[in-house]
Amino acid sequence: MADNVDLERFDYDSGLPIFICANCYTHFASPPGDCTTNLFKRTILLPEIQCRNLVIRPPGHQFLHCNGTTWHARLYCRQCYSEMGYQIVREDNPNRTDQVGMIGLYMSMMLLWNGHDLFALAQCLPKEPPPLPHQNAEPPLYLCRDCNTQFASNNELSKIDFKVPRIFFESSMNLVVDPLGRHIPHMNGTTWVAIVRCSGCNKIRGMSIVREDNPDDVEREGFVGLDMTLLNIWNGSGREVFSLMRRLPMLKDLPQVPSDSSTTSTPSYTSSSSEMPLTGSSSSVEMQESLTGSPISAEMQLSLNGSSSSVNMQQ
Ligand SMILES: [Zn+2]
Ligand SMILES: [Zn+2]
Repeated sequence: MADNVDLERFDYDSGLPIFICANCYTHFASPPGDCTTNLFKRTILLPEIQCRNLVIRPPGHQFLHCNGTTWHARLYCRQCYSEMGYQIVREDNPNRTDQVGMIGLYMSMMLLWNGHDLFALAQCLPKEPPPLPHQNAEPPLYLCRDCNTQFASNNELSKIDFKVPRIFFESSMNLVVDPLGRHIPHMNGTTWVAIVRCSGCNKIRGMSIVREDNPDDVEREGFVGLDMTLLNIWNGSGREVFSLMRRLPMLKDLPQVPSDSSTTSTPSYTSSSSEMPLTGSSSSVEMQESLTGSPISAEMQLSLNGSSSSVNMQQ
């Protein structure tokens, strides 16, 4: 335990998410915002090269995954030795050998720093009956945080972006889109978005692309981007429902966080973000930013050319 290792740390101001041991604040990874996520197993999947400060059980302690071909070895935090996940150390299925070396980190064991806030991930909620899955829905199901109304299943999932943090779906249900007169033009000049609310509790959950005039992007019409702090997930097992992301109180004394980071380096457009998802009172600009995956800066608002690279919902 008390080995005097130099634990590697990531830069809190890099703009990239950082996954952190929930027990001792050791840093594990700083991947791009849309890293591969298996919400069914509540696991983040990362290439080994992106991970730090993990120790692996030695050969002889590897175990065969229930799929019959994949061999895992458990991974532990280098500082506190909590079990954090696993590495795929061998794959006997020739079609999956590209997975060898990949690391799976358990979301519920980590905190996430997304550049300006700290979050707990995938925490089990008090037992309650999960909703009946919609026809053909593939778990996990994505539910309203406040009333567990079902919005989408894994079939509709398009993209997860921990940095924003938003989750995007190609289609959805039980979301009420603001009427035509309240649609909002995006600065790219071709996209119109609208606020969406839960049909069960009427609270704002995100934004939807209601019209896309760029023929190259027209398939994005109907996409929704939902605030991950306003959703629960049910992975189809038992009666357990999980929060997806919960914002934590800002810890001024969090080890390794520069003490002045919240005042000097946080962009001004995020200044209200600590209240935004909980009150459901986010402004249209904030929600529009969240849907397009990029902040609408003053520069962007002045330049109306709006390259499609600012819209973050392909794939
Ligand atoms: Zn730890
Ligand atoms: Zn609701």
